[in-house]
Amino acid sequence: MEYQVLARKWRPQRFSEVIGQEHVTKTLQNQIMRQRAAHAYLFVGPRGIGKTTIARIFAKALICRKYPSMEPCCECDNCKAVQDASCLDVIEIDGASNNTVDNVRNLRDEVYYAPVSGKFKIYIVDEVHMLTAGAWNAFLKTVEEPPAHVKFIFATTEAHKVIPTIVSRCQRFDLRRIPTAMISKSLAKIAEQEKVRISTDAISAIARAADGGMRDAESLLDQMIAFRSSENEEIAESDIVSVFGLAAKDELEGLVTALFDNDAQKIVNTLNTIASGGKNLEKLYDDLLSTLRSVQIAKIAGKNAGRILEENDEAAAAYLKLGANHPLDTVQRLIETLSASSRSLHDAINKHVFIEALLLKAARISHSAKVEDLIRKINELQGEDKQAPAEEPKKKLTND
Ligand SMILES: [Zn+2]
Repeated sequence: MEYQVLARKWRPQRFSEVIGQEHVTKTLQNQIMRQRAAHAYLFVGPRGIGKTTIARIFAKALICRKYPSMEPCCECDNCKAVQDASCLDVIEIDGASNNTVDNVRNLRDEVYYAPVSGKFKIYIVDEVHMLTAGAWNAFLKTVEEPPAHVKFIFATTEAHKVIPTIVSRCQRFDLRRIPTAMISKSLAKIAEQEKVRISTDAISAIARAADGGMRDAESLLDQMIAFRSSENEEIAESDIVSVFGLAAKDELEGLVTALFDNDAQKIVNTLNTIASGGKNLEKLYDDLLSTLRSVQIAKIAGKNAGRILEENDEAAAAYLKLGANHPLDTVQRLIETLSASSRSLHDAINKHVFIEALLLKAARISHSAKVEDLIRKINELQGEDKQAPAEEPKKKLTND
C-alpha cells in the first residue's frame, strides 16, 4: 500500500480531535449549536497549527445533515464530500495563486448561486494576505454583505497585511502555537497506532523541533520513519538531533549548568562541541531560553509548575532539580540578558562567535553583585564602624 503522509492520515476530522486550540473550537461549536455563525471569519496564526483543518471541520459541521450538532457526523454524504474534497459547497481558494482582480470578480459572481446540497456555501480562503489591494476592493462589498447562504473563512499567517476594513468585518480568532508537551502526547499516540518504535526522548526532540506546529511534527516523524534502516529499528533521540541539527538534551542541560555556575571554560567547550557538530545555533538559543524559563517557573510556581509549563510533573521536577542550587535571581538575570539579544543573534554573521560572547556575558552579569546589594553592604560596613545600626529606626508618627 502506498505510504500516506502522517499529517494527512491523522488530520483531525472533528473539533474534539484538534489539539491546542480549544479556545477557538469551543466558540465555533457554541455558535453552531445556537445557529449563530458569523458570515466572515479570520483565522490568524503561524503555519501548520490547524487553521485550514479547523476551517474544514467548521464547514463540514455547517453543512452536515445533522446540523446543528456539536460535531459533524462524518458519515452523511455532505460530510463525506468535504472529507474527500469533492463538495461543491465548500470551496477552498489559495489566496497566493488566486490573488488578482479577475479571480475575485469570478468569485464575486459565483457566491450568488444557491448551495447545491446544504444550507450554506462556504469559502475557505487561505493565505488571504496575498490578495492584491485591487482584488480586495472588488471583494469588499461581497464580504460586507454576502448572501445569507454564504460564509467566508479567511486564514492568514500575517494578519497585519490584511486590510483593516476586511479585518473589521470578520470575527477574528488567533490560533496559538501548540505546547510541546501536547505535541509529544499526540505524536506518541500516532507512533503507537502506526506501530513505529520510538523513544520518549526522541518524541520530545521532534516536538521541540516542530516549534508549536503539529503538521511540522508529523512531517518530521515521516522523515524519521523513512530514515530507519529497518521497520523494527527504534528511532532514538540521537537520530533526531543528527538529522535536524538540534542540540541533545544533555548538551543543553550541560550548557545551562555551566551558565548557572558561571563556568566560562565549560560554556566555551560545550558550545564549541555543539557548533562543530553543525547544530543550528538559533534553535539552540531558543531551547536555552525555554529551558531557563522552565527552571524559573519550576522555582516560582511550585506544584502548579507542571500545569503552567504544560509538561508532566516529572518534567517539572527535573527543571526544579536543574536549578536547585542556584538562586532565582541568577536564573532571571540570565533570561533578561539572553532574551535582549534575540534580534541581534538573528542578524549576526558568525552566530558561533556571537552566541559565545552572549553566553559569557550573561553568565558574568547574572553572577555580578547588584548595585543595591553593594549599597546595602556599604551601609552595613559603615554601621559596623560606628558600632551603631546603619539606619536610625524611624520615629512613629502619631496624632497625639
Ligand atoms: Zn454529516
